Amino acid sequence: MQANIAAAKAALAHLDVEEKDVAIKAASRDFFWYSPVLKNRLDHVTADFVVRPKDEAEVIEILKVCYEHDVPVTTRGAGTGNYGQAMPLEGGCVMHLRHMDKVREIHPGRVICEPGVLLKDVDAATREHSGQELRMFSSTWATATIGGFIAGGSGGVGSCTWGALRDLGNIIRLRVVTMEAEPRIVEFTGEELARVSHAYGTNGIITEVEMPLAPAYDWVEMFVTFHDFMDAARFSEDLANQDGILIKLATVFEAPIAHDYFQRVKPHVQPGTNLVGLMVAPHSMDGFLTFAGRRPEATIIYRNDDHNWERGPGPVFEYGWNHTTLRALKVDPSITYLQVRYGHPNSLKLVEKMRDDFSPEVLQHLEVMRESGRVIFAGLSLVKFTTEERLNEIIKLHEDAGAMIFNPHRYTLEEGGRQTVDDRQLNFKKESDPKGLLNPGKMISWDDPDWAFNEMYAHPRLQPLTKA
Ligand code: FAD
Repeated sequence: MQANIAAAKAALAHLDVEEKDVAIKAASRDFFWYSPVLKNRLDHVTADFVVRPKDEAEVIEILKVCYEHDVPVTTRGAGTGNYGQAMPLEGGCVMHLRHMDKVREIHPGRVICEPGVLLKDVDAATREHSGQELRMFSSTWATATIGGFIAGGSGGVGSCTWGALRDLGNIIRLRVVTMEAEPRIVEFTGEELARVSHAYGTNGIITEVEMPLAPAYDWVEMFVTFHDFMDAARFSEDLANQDGILIKLATVFEAPIAHDYFQRVKPHVQPGTNLVGLMVAPHSMDGFLTFAGRRPEATIIYRNDDHNWERGPGPVFEYGWNHTTLRALKVDPSITYLQVRYGHPNSLKLVEKMRDDFSPEVLQHLEVMRESGRVIFAGLSLVKFTTEERLNEIIKLHEDAGAMIFNPHRYTLEEGGRQTVDDRQLNFKKESDPKGLLNPGKMISWDDPDWAFNEMYAHPRLQPLTKA
């Protein structure tokens, strides 16, 4: 199967097509460089052209033309994904959805919009319309799209109360276009949602989303300090277990993360300070202050509604989730990270063990999450990178201890997930993308059903590893 790029480009010339090499290269990248493992191997990846549809009809036209000419299509929201998800491994077309940014309908408890609208713009529209907001968003709220969050993300700010994106009820409906000679439109709800959500656009293009909303609040954002790391972690867990206090974020940073990597927090902490970042609903502040008052080990050093910091820190959620890694990387480029699940019931015991075993090579950054009604921790641990061998060893030791790793140093769906084939996604790909043209190389079970997962999947277009 040989892609006929020239024919596809000619057929799409009446649309908004990007021709400039620099712009094409820029639209072919995401935040893959977070990973020293992926950085070397994906740096060269680039599309042949970029096209920006303005509506679903143009998406259908692009898919139809690319199908006819065997051209791969990789969809791009805002390109803030971390694992090369939005990078066109086999070149071809990057379909950038930035023009599909309309919020269509807002109802009590739900919003219907196009996929290319930024998370912050969904919130602005729903807040203005009826005082509502998204239940959860990635910490890239200001820059990421809702479609990219659903197709590439997992959860974030709000997950301490609402769970993860994959949990029932956190996506209501997705409208998807298939990659066939005559592209079809399919609507997914309930059980079917798992076929296309978090599928990296490998088996369909999301053209409309319907998401649940919650009442919007002017969240009180805070930083709270602790001498002892486990006190900070227990405080966050206990707070999330307070049934009457509404929170949207509880993040724990082991010392010296706050001092070494958070420039605007640094003047207010010591190297040994452990920090908790919080978002609490205004009507819960009385309950929260009572809760915190019972904990002499906790000191509130910052409130966004009442502080005398010369330079405010900006949104507290932009210190959490994967923003922690970004801030650390800016100060120390040798930092990378892991995504860890510390499940119920020994969540904190396991955190404590991993910290005893690895600190300071691995520093704990924890996010409180809710899973099936229980509070657990997601770790986005900061790792001082030395070699790939050592990184793999750290991962193995976590897994041996019972901490599940979602490896952020892999570009495929399976390796970044549970290392198993997702039959629901694979089966839908067989129906929706018979030529395998959507975001090729990201679903191992499509490329190589017998892959044994004992080493990193080596797509032929990966660059051979060179030392940085
Ligand atoms: P992109 O990166 O453009 O795309 C992501 C994936 O979805 C790609 O595979 C792409 O092909 C596919 N895709 C995009 N749009 C569509 C569509 N309409 N149909 C089908 N497939 C599509 N993630 C979290 O989950 N939670 C976090 O808190 C979080 N914090 C982050 C912090 C930082 C600093 C960074 C750099 C990343 C973070 N991420 C987080 C990862 C990423 O930002 C989010 O997943 C984000 O929501 C992705 O949105 P995007 O528009 O940038 O998607």
